[in-house]
Amino acid sequence: MMKWKTSLAGLHSYKPGKREEAVMEELGLTKITKLSSNENPLGASKKVQKLARELSFQTEIYPDGHASDLRKTVADFYDISEEELIFTAGVDELIELLTRVLLDATTNTVMATPTFVQYRQNALIEGAEVREIALKPDGHHDFEKMLEAIDDKTAIVWICNPNNPTGNFLPLEDIRAFIQKVPEDCLVVLDEAYIEYVEPQPLAHEKWIREFPNLIITRTFSKIYGLASSRVGYGICSKEIVYYLNIVRPPFNTTTAGQMLAKEALLDQAFVAECRALNHAGIAAFKSFSEAYPNVKLYPSQGNFVLLDLGRDAAEIFSFLEKNGFITRSGAALGFKTAVRITVGTEEDVAQVIALLKEFLD
Ligand SMILES: *Cc1c(COP(=O)(O)O)cnc(C)c1O
Repeated sequence: MMKWKTSLAGLHSYKPGKREEAVMEELGLTKITKLSSNENPLGASKKVQKLARELSFQTEIYPDGHASDLRKTVADFYDISEEELIFTAGVDELIELLTRVLLDATTNTVMATPTFVQYRQNALIEGAEVREIALKPDGHHDFEKMLEAIDDKTAIVWICNPNNPTGNFLPLEDIRAFIQKVPEDCLVVLDEAYIEYVEPQPLAHEKWIREFPNLIITRTFSKIYGLASSRVGYGICSKEIVYYLNIVRPPFNTTTAGQMLAKEALLDQAFVAECRALNHAGIAAFKSFSEAYPNVKLYPSQGNFVLLDLGRDAAEIFSFLEKNGFITRSGAALGFKTAVRITVGTEEDVAQVIALLKEFLD
């Protein structure tokens, strides 16, 4: 037996949503729509798709490890300093780096549950104690209990806003009041992977990092920008946090193509607004569906997905949708035994899924 880190005992690899080809073959379907990973149903913007087709660069040369071009674009976009940014292979990698610089067996970390599973997974890998605080019944983070759970060994507290998998969004005033109460020696991670979907858009708050040197805001190009395959995410934070993250960051962690596509994507905000509007309409459709069924509970989502509790076994709902051509995410794996998480697709996808859910329930 090799000397595997003892912290790995009991942990498992991430189970991605099933692949479309595999499901089609298994069920003999000719068309399947993947609504399991919160990908953008419109893809990336036309401009980004065009650039992806025409990309030309020297494949043998390592990427710019500083992501200089993208860095300048993002810094200008938010009117912050280029030194207040760190770029990573998706926010997934940023979460890994954050736990690497701050967590070990002598520390603990506080988070909501259910929330994005990667916080817990990475914290456990580092051997830290994970303190999970149940969401309130309405799906919001329980900030009071989270504060009570923080002690002098707490190195990171996580906020996911909008929260995955519920979609709940907490107003910025609440987030700010919470951060003010967190001890200055505890890092606050504010994961805003879905912030661009929030309607109406919250006020700019990137400059909070100047008031709170222990805050990092994380954002991604994987969701509204439709670039999940390119693996580009970033953190907005104080230079001190950037300094430590850079020690553990692999030197060439984002790719040349990813940097170029992300830059183009950020510059097309008309597309972002279009996606936000489409998503908003989709959520509204799910809302009126749920209101017509007293036993159906819809969490108030501001993400690009809905968590629907149908009061029926999650696996049963999942297979019904799958056999009818839609891959979703069973709530069972996310901490909700009778719910399903569905990415908001195109208008047509949403209408079809709702029709299927009605058929399932009637
Ligand atoms: C999707 C997601 C991420 C990570 O996305 P990347 O593709 O790694 O950038 C981070 N946080 C939450 C809450 C997510 O849902």
